[in-house]
Amino acid sequence: MIRFEHVSKQFPNGTLAVKSLDLEIEKGEFFVLIGPSGSGKTTTLKMINRLIELSKGWVRINGKKISDYDIHELRWDIGYVLQQIALFPHMTIAENIAVVPELKNWDKKRIRTRVDELLEMVGLDPKEYRNRKPHELSGGQQQRVGVLRALAADPEIILMDEPFSALDPFSREKLQDDVLEIQQRLKKTIVFVTHDMREALKLGDRICLMKDGEIVQVGTPHAFLTNPANDFVREFVGNKQ
Ligand code: ATP
Repeated sequence: MIRFEHVSKQFPNGTLAVKSLDLEIEKGEFFVLIGPSGSGKTTTLKMINRLIELSKGWVRINGKKISDYDIHELRWDIGYVLQQIALFPHMTIAENIAVVPELKNWDKKRIRTRVDELLEMVGLDPKEYRNRKPHELSGGQQQRVGVLRALAADPEIILMDEPFSALDPFSREKLQDDVLEIQQRLKKTIVFVTHDMREALKLGDRICLMKDGEIVQVGTPHAFLTNPANDFVREFVGNKQ
């Protein structure tokens, strides 16, 4: 579904953030990118929706090079959730969730039904929450709305960049459970960046551990626990459990 072929990224200041990456992420997979700070996780993620343009190689989605997609459609068709809760403060919760469906010109009734269905899915009563502004929600609820916004137009792929790291442990657990359920129910392909090995082991179908812009190991949580590729992996798993 998402295929990296010899992908490198060099920033204008000369930093080689990603080095000849080869990777295939399967349809419907919960794929976790993990690694120390500066290892290239966010750069790898953002090359998928072209928030960062790659320097060498190809990324393909469903066989088609991302450079051959219309950039707006590519961004609309890929959900994106960030660490910083990025809701528009002047807009209601319903309007925030409906941003991409609006861009896609869905009709009002369809948008309303979709917003209510999404709010219900994560246990937020639409009657109570639809017309609130973001500041009238807790941090965990705001981040839940951030996830719903990414899901609103029913994208096949969702990118998540440390979406829960600013949350308290309780909200974090709850949102992890919500996202797992959503992914299993709706069969989305999720690419998820985290620093937290416990989170990776809980959520990932497969985990990709990066270091200095390269892959050290890709495999199932079980493989990471029972068959680490080297001492770096062993330490990373050991320290973060
Ligand atoms: P973190 O966990 O700290 O977010 P990361 O693994 O996501 O780190 P990246 O953000 O992908 O790492 O950064 C990889 C490397 O590229 C780092 O050395 C970083 O300093 C560098 N880098 C990232 N963005 C830029 C930029 N816009 N210009 C120059 N260098 C950059």
